[in-house]
This record gives sequence, structure tokens and C-alpha cells, in this order.
Amino acid sequence: MSEKKNYGFTTTVLHNDRRKGIEHGSLHKPLHTSVAFGYDDARQLASVFQGKEPGFRYGRQGNPTISALEDKITRMEDGLATICFATGMGAIGAVFQALLKAGDHVVSSSFLFGNTNSLWQTVAGQGVGVDFVDATDVAHVEAALKPHTRIVFVETIANPRTQVADLARIGALCKARGILYVVDNTMTTPYLFRPKAVGAGLVVNALTKSIGGHGNALGGSLTDTGEYDWSAYPNIAANYKRNPAPQWGMAQIRAKGLRDFGASLGPEAAHHIAVGAETLALRMERTSSNALALARMLEADERVAAVHYPGLASHPQHGIASELFRAYGSLFSFELKDGIDCFDYLNRMDIAISASNLGDTRTLVIPVAHTIFFEMGAERRASMGIAESLIRVSVGIEDPADLLADFAAALQG
Ligand SMILES: *Cc1c(COP(=O)(O)O)cnc(C)c1O
Repeated sequence: MSEKKNYGFTTTVLHNDRRKGIEHGSLHKPLHTSVAFGYDDARQLASVFQGKEPGFRYGRQGNPTISALEDKITRMEDGLATICFATGMGAIGAVFQALLKAGDHVVSSSFLFGNTNSLWQTVAGQGVGVDFVDATDVAHVEAALKPHTRIVFVETIANPRTQVADLARIGALCKARGILYVVDNTMTTPYLFRPKAVGAGLVVNALTKSIGGHGNALGGSLTDTGEYDWSAYPNIAANYKRNPAPQWGMAQIRAKGLRDFGASLGPEAAHHIAVGAETLALRMERTSSNALALARMLEADERVAAVHYPGLASHPQHGIASELFRAYGSLFSFELKDGIDCFDYLNRMDIAISASNLGDTRTLVIPVAHTIFFEMGAERRASMGIAESLIRVSVGIEDPADLLADFAAALQG
């Protein structure tokens, strides 16, 4: 496949492995399970170790199967380079592990995936200042910046309340101040939105969710978009400055965040994720239209107190979402009116499964306050806008009529 031609999203995902000369004309990148890689010339092994020529050393730092997936994600995000991790949390953890020092400061959206919120609390206990702000308005981010703020971290569409960060204005602010802008793109995926377009320097994807898409493999990734000037980042060690500045960040993250931290993606999971990614665009179209139909139906029902979905005109960031995203994604959440027990509601469903995952082909539902956001307590939940009756829905690719009937029948009691 030609390097020069600029193909569309799905064509690129399907054929990208062949651009690198795939073994034996295999159509899928083969599954390489070897941990070690041997060299006939010991000098070549040394030269690979010293970064003077490309090659594989030891499985923790990558192998040909992982590398093919990294290249695919780089293309999907239109970035410079990608590093894969065992999980999405492994990827986010590596940002902190590799790039922050005691005394640094981070501004994070307060509307976050629960475990990312928990991770930030840990980081805050280790000498890094962390301020949580309402990132739906750039003014809150700007007010929290300090001279030593190194990173601003947001999610595109926040899980589970679907707040949309003020993505473009925060990007412009970070660029003007030389701050690294890290965007978790899990809910939108590179098919609906490329954070590079708003100046993100690093993009997080939890590959476990929509990119893998079938709930059968854990994985995460960090993509360097090329938007951030690493020569302005104070924490890059001399060791990782041997190549030109655009490569510094990933060189340090691959060493400090992946090699030393060890949350490496396994080849079998990488294979599942690469196959799943082939249908990402098709699935996002279907799950987005299913989600919009469900959200509209529930919003019109008097037994429902609130529906949170960026595709609804009533959503506070509907305008920004419409401007930036190709569609509104597979995640929505809703609150039942007093008198309808959320557990009873979920137990009446026939198709939607009570389970904790997102971006599966199947529709999954979960009572948020009692499960994934239980540990943080009622006070922090309230500050994040999480009602006690909130139900999060990860909409699947089922036939729309079946889904609508299932959600409607459960309301009948
Ligand atoms: C699930 C998720 C993660 C973490 O991914 P894992 O693969 O489960 O570790 C990070 N961010 C968001 C927005 C997520 O939904």
C-alpha cells in the first residue's frame, strides 16, 4: 500500500500493517510471542540498545505485534508516535511516572473517570500539586494555573456525566503558556475526534473500550501528536535528548513510563485490539445513533428526571460537541425520578447487562454511585454532579428497536 496516498479512516486502519511489509503476505500482523530478540552480530545488539538503529530488545519495551498496533493508532490520531500499555490506567500512570517531579503542578478536570481521579489523589500525596477544576470553561483552568504548572489534563466527554471540556480554548491557553495538554480521548475515539486538532500534545486512549471494542482485551495508549514543543519541558533528562526534540517526550516515556514501570501490553491483547479497531468507525456510527435514539426517548419520559448526552439540545455543551465531534458517542447517563429504584429498573432489563465496562458491542448499564463511584464518598460524588440514582449506559450495536423496547419496558415496572 502506497505511503503517499491519503486514504480515509477505515481504509487506513485495515491496510496499515501492509505499509511496513508484513511477514509472508499475512493480512493480519502476526502474533509475536517471543520475549527476546537475537542478533547474529553482537555489535548490532549494542547499537539497538544505544538507540542508534531500530530493533527490538526485550518484550517489556515492545515487540513487532505491539509496534504494528502502535503505528496503527498513530495513523488514527494523525500523530508522530504511539506507545501501548497493558491498560488505559497504565498509559495515564506512565504520564505521571515519566514526566512529573515533586514540586510540579497539574490542573485536571474534576469530571474524570473514577480511577483517574483516584490516581490523581495518589499523585497529590507524593509532592505534586493537583488542582481539580470545572474544565467546561477555560476560565477555571486559567485561574488555576501556576508558574510551575506542567500539565493540564482533561477528558473529551467525561465519564459518566458526559460534560464536554472546553477543548479548543484550553488548547489555545496551554499553547500560549507552553504547558503540556493531555487529552483522554477514550469516549470520543480518534474516529469522532482528534485532540491534535485542538492542540493536545499527548492523547490517551483506553484501548479496552471502543477501539478494541469487544470487551475481550485490556489495553491503553499514549500518542504524541507533535503539537507540544518538548524543548520547553523542564523534566527531560539528558539521556533522552540525543535525538531531535520532537522525539524527547516519547523517548523518556518509553523508558521511564513503560520500561521501568512495566505495564506492558501483551501480544495477544494487541492482536484482539488491532482486529477490533478495523470496525471502529462502523461501530461508532451505530452506537452513536443508538445512544441518541435512547437518550431522546428517555428525555421525553416523565418518569426520568434527567438525561445527560452531548447529542441532546438540552446538554450544556451541545454546541461545542456539535462543532468538534463527528457524532456524540456511545456513552450517556440518566437519573430516574424518586420512587423508581435504580436497582429494580436495571433488574427488569432483558438486553442491557449490569456490568462495568464501556465501548463493548453489547449494551452495558451500571448504577454509578453504588459501584464505580462508591469508594470516593457522597461528598465528592456531589461535587462531580453524580446523583445517587445515576445510571450509566454504554450503548452497544444491538438493533435499535430492541434497545428502545428494552429501556421502555423497564420503565413500565
Ligand atoms: C476505562 C477508562 C480508562 C482506563 O482504562 P483501563 O483500560 O480500564 O485501564 C481511562 N479513561 C477513561 C475515560 C476510561 O473510560
